[in-house]
Amino acid sequence: MKQNETMQFNYIANASVPSLTGKTIPVLDPSDGQVFDEIQRSNAHDIDVAVRSARDCLELVWSRLSAAERGRLLMRLSAKVAEHLDELALLEQRDCGKPVKQARADAAALVRYFEFYAGACDKLHGDTIPYLDGYSVMTWREPHGVTGHVIPWNYPMQIFGRSVGGALAAGNVCVVKPAEDACLSLLRVAQLATEVGFPAGALNIVTGYGHEIGDALARHPGIDHISFTGSPRVGTLIQQVAAERHCPVTLELGGKSPQIVFADADLDAAIPAIVNAIVQNAGQTCSAGSRLLVEQSIYEPLLERLGQAFEKLRVGPAAMDLDVGPLIRQNQQQRVWDFLSDAHVAGIPMVAQGQIVDEAPDTGFYQAPTLLRDVPVNHRLAQEEVFGPVLCAMSFKDENHAVELANATQFGLAAGVWTRDGARQFRMAKRIKSGQVFINNYGAGGGVELPFGGVKSSGYGREKGFEALYGFTTLKTVALRHG
Ligand code: NAD
Repeated sequence: MKQNETMQFNYIANASVPSLTGKTIPVLDPSDGQVFDEIQRSNAHDIDVAVRSARDCLELVWSRLSAAERGRLLMRLSAKVAEHLDELALLEQRDCGKPVKQARADAAALVRYFEFYAGACDKLHGDTIPYLDGYSVMTWREPHGVTGHVIPWNYPMQIFGRSVGGALAAGNVCVVKPAEDACLSLLRVAQLATEVGFPAGALNIVTGYGHEIGDALARHPGIDHISFTGSPRVGTLIQQVAAERHCPVTLELGGKSPQIVFADADLDAAIPAIVNAIVQNAGQTCSAGSRLLVEQSIYEPLLERLGQAFEKLRVGPAAMDLDVGPLIRQNQQQRVWDFLSDAHVAGIPMVAQGQIVDEAPDTGFYQAPTLLRDVPVNHRLAQEEVFGPVLCAMSFKDENHAVELANATQFGLAAGVWTRDGARQFRMAKRIKSGQVFINNYGAGGGVELPFGGVKSSGYGREKGFEALYGFTTLKTVALRHG
């Protein structure tokens, strides 16, 4: 029997509205696999209503606000989210199975995104360009208009903050389609936006399945730009659909990011960062450090120390706030099991595994963190995104070999380099094909201010930081002859 406590509605034009379909999707708690809520299963008509309300808001209200006024609204939203941090973190914890500290970190990141973009609104300038005598030429950064945002389930609040925060700051209005597994926190944030004075239609949220309404959003002629964060497969589909009407797209896709450890590295600093980079959010992180490349001379001792660290990791319900929570859903768990079964068949040795605690219900979607070694570079474990807490180790001979292995996947999102050699730090940063290179750290501090994105199949376009505002605007050149 269904155990739902509430039912969530779409949020369009500052009001909670049911889908025109009358259909719903059950919401499961990944910690016990039980249904506890429902969201709307919307369709293309609901998307159309949201896009129209966004367009009206853009033309009648939002485009008439000054950049400073937009900034004040975003700052008020940041403060409001901070006031509701406990509530939002609890929603995310239950909806996504995030351990308490991760859910709170995500809510805190959302506060910071709105704060950062609030301050950025009135700092986005064009240029004046020297030209012919008697001419003045300037460039204006103009918003695209109505932007569509397709969000994944792994970090709903964080990805919403970086994508929608940047878009609103640049003067756009937004229609958001969260992942069907993770809508609750974002629906609540939209209500908070109304409470702080956002005009009706500036921020709309429509829930439902990707192939139904994600696709409808990408196809809608009233959408002027699409920001997509998700898998490379769906990124391709979105891009194809958008190409038919020449709609610009920002793609933030997956990764198979290497952690590269040289023999001169500070291992005391590297080990906790390497472990965290693969177990944070149960490995369901686009920039998870899922490949470990180690210089031959320290391969054995490093694996021994990492093995000890993995054995201490404890996995359990989100509310227990252990090292690792559950995976998002059963088919994600099955996906990880399939990878591990392939590893077994291929004879890939397992170094160590963490432990699932006795309190974890059998109906939850748990997976113990797993360290594998000697993974052949061409095996799918070294090539494909597992999106679970599985770290694949391999050794390298020298710097050239390290670069060759680091670049040997279709992805190019992030890389960690651990070495004390300053010249090598720069050489590695230059030679690794990825959007981010972290040297002697791995993504510490959240990085709201730092531009983020990928190369190759990790996508293109940059979100986060000031750089995102260039992607959420289009440049107009104005040439004036006055002589
Ligand atoms: P997904 O691609 O399955 O889903 C992402 C979103 O797309 C969801 O909202 C989904 O409903 C929607 N969608 C699905 N089919 C669609 C379609 N045909 N048309 C339009 N929209 C559709 O990805 P996921 O499983 O939710 O997230 C995991 C993936 O996201 C991983 O590959 C991960 O690396 C990637 N990711 C990347 C970043 C980054 O910044 N690069 C950040 C987080 C996650």
